Amino acid sequence: MNPLAQGICQGIRLAYSGTVLDWAEANVRFPASDRASRFDRTVAPWMNEPLLAATDDETTQLFIRAATGAGKTTYMETLACFIVAQKPGPTLFVGQTDDMVKDWTESRLLPIFRECEPVHSLFPEDRHALRKTTILFPHMVLFAGGANITNLQEKSMRYCIGDEVWRWKNGMIRELKARHHDRWNRKTILVSQGWDSTHESSEEWESGTREVYGWECPACKHWQRYLFDAITWDNDAKDEKGVWLWDRLQDSIRLTCENCKAEYRDNASERRTLAGTASYRPLNPHPVRGVRSFEIPAYAVWWIPWFSLVREFLEANEAKHSGNTDPLRQFIQKRKAQVWVEEVTSDMPEIACADYSKSEYVEGQKLDGEVHRFMAVDKQRDHFWCVVRAFRADGSSRLLHESRPLTWETLDAISAQYGVPARCNVVDAGYDTPVVYEQCARRGWTASHGSGQDGFWHQAQERRVRRFVSKIEAAQAGSHGLKAAYFFFANEGVKDKLSALRQVETAVAWEVPRDVSDEYRKQMLSEIKKDVINAKTKQVEQRWVRISGKPNHLWDCECIALAAAMLAGVLPTGDV
Ligand SMILES: [Zn+2]
Repeated sequence: MNPLAQGICQGIRLAYSGTVLDWAEANVRFPASDRASRFDRTVAPWMNEPLLAATDDETTQLFIRAATGAGKTTYMETLACFIVAQKPGPTLFVGQTDDMVKDWTESRLLPIFRECEPVHSLFPEDRHALRKTTILFPHMVLFAGGANITNLQEKSMRYCIGDEVWRWKNGMIRELKARHHDRWNRKTILVSQGWDSTHESSEEWESGTREVYGWECPACKHWQRYLFDAITWDNDAKDEKGVWLWDRLQDSIRLTCENCKAEYRDNASERRTLAGTASYRPLNPHPVRGVRSFEIPAYAVWWIPWFSLVREFLEANEAKHSGNTDPLRQFIQKRKAQVWVEEVTSDMPEIACADYSKSEYVEGQKLDGEVHRFMAVDKQRDHFWCVVRAFRADGSSRLLHESRPLTWETLDAISAQYGVPARCNVVDAGYDTPVVYEQCARRGWTASHGSGQDGFWHQAQERRVRRFVSKIEAAQAGSHGLKAAYFFFANEGVKDKLSALRQVETAVAWEVPRDVSDEYRKQMLSEIKKDVINAKTKQVEQRWVRISGKPNHLWDCECIALAAAMLAGVLPTGDV
């Protein structure tokens, strides 16, 4: 071709006015693919929006979290062709290791480049400029390597593309992003399956638009997110020994519309029809500008049969029951394309029961040597949790009652039934404080506040001491001149005390009846002591935190009862 004609061709090429999808359909071929030998936007439609975002002028970072087998590699190859031919700029591809990346460039990327005429025509004439890790095009350079510091240093890049970042060491994504040297036209493109909740990927993905993929029901036009929970199957498809009859289970699989209950069967044609209706919706109302994130689960990928996912899920659950959570983690990360949160269990022992029952105390009977009893209440929006606990002078105690009452009147009845003195009914005022103050004031009850403070100063004879509980104060409550009594207690100190008391062998008995509810047993294992970073001091501290998803109300009630006993002087108050 003479130089003039070449110049004209180049001018036409650079002035290309269509989208990356139009261009790729005209120019990109996949010599090694068994699904489609050329780019076709209807094959993996979930990749269209991320392709457009990677080539627009607004997006600076995009993060695709997709199931394995959803076409992530094809996405990067298509994008690479477009970058070289249409939007050139220094580009860095980072995979897990140097060897894996070399393999990919040699076996997939270079053959695709050769088949793509606009890219091939730009190949360097010096064949030494064409290596597995560096391609020196006349107009740009493309580096490819593993996620290590050497590859991530010094180079200044317009495009930084990270593959399977869930495998990277924490900190490497930050290194990758630093390679842009704050170019105005920079793009960071991250691609991965799901990861562990502690990985730095979470922060990057969460800060973006969080676009989830959903389908539109052909029957009622209702858009809904692709959810594994919408896929159902016949749970009775088992033989008399409980072994799955896989063929029967397979025939029973349906995806049900959450709106009109229309059912879609598990075959390639129905799955592909639904894929043709699908689109993204953002979940994050306040993303960082220019940052987009996408999620694509395996059940949105029409060539993956739902049956294979259901089977994996059932087997993963069976493994979990025998103590192996690894298959379930794989399912959540690789199939749901979601984040795995390690299930934390309390390291406290199960509640040990003493030899008595609740029924021995339902008529207000006293313990031998009892000096105080308290009803401790945790208020929720439309119900309460409460415990009644009685203490002896040596600090030993028994739980007499635990329940989940719905009204203040029920609390009155419980208090009366157990003969709890008015001041000894203590209600947590952390929620709905004005209401709690007013109700306590009317009844002569006491309000309490769990506090993040370590302790409270008291004047004791000649010296000042710090205790886990504050003095009792009075506050205006409501508009009738009522005063509510309230006090603060140090959450950490009281919880430490409770956790020590409820260990099996302690000097002072802290007892629970043998017929205590399962709910109580569960809630008493709802918190653990964990290292957390203090937001103010930046120091690592041990703090009690609730285990995600576990209600802790009865545990809170027991803390309040303990704090009340400290206030009454039957338990040491943690003098410092
Ligand atoms: Zn519907």
